[in-house]
Amino acid sequence: MEQIDERTSQSESDSQQKYFIDLEWYQGNNRSFDVLVQNRMCSTSFKGWSISEDKSSNSPATPRGTDAIAEIEQCCSRKPEFTNPNLAVMEILFRILLAAGNQPLSIRELESRLNEWIGGWDGRVINENVLKRLLEGDHFYGIRLAGVVDPV
Ligand SMILES: [Zn+2]
Repeated sequence: MEQIDERTSQSESDSQQKYFIDLEWYQGNNRSFDVLVQNRMCSTSFKGWSISEDKSSNSPATPRGTDAIAEIEQCCSRKPEFTNPNLAVMEILFRILLAAGNQPLSIRELESRLNEWIGGWDGRVINENVLKRLLEGDHFYGIRLAGVVDPV
């Protein structure tokens, strides 16, 4: 009986666990978040980004990391080409987190936003277990568990 109780509480806490894009993961894995995120920007933001990269070092800091996420949240994620429903599930999850300003989201929230994104069943089986497996197997997007976060 005790085992069943543990399993129940385990799966309840699982769906409460939140995921986010861990920028430190990129540094630890010698991957460039800036390049990855730049390729998800709309053409206007992409150009603005390239120009600021060319400026001399005494110009204001180039938007990076969280600034790049803010740019996507406030601009690029609202462009129709950003929300392409034909993308791979992991790519969509990455974009969902970018569009949310990298606010940690639970599996349940990710699932519901993903289904909204795809706009109906397109043949892919997407449920909380599938998402959890995908997220745990991720070695490309740096999406990591943020732990159980109490709402502020
Ligand atoms: Zn943009």
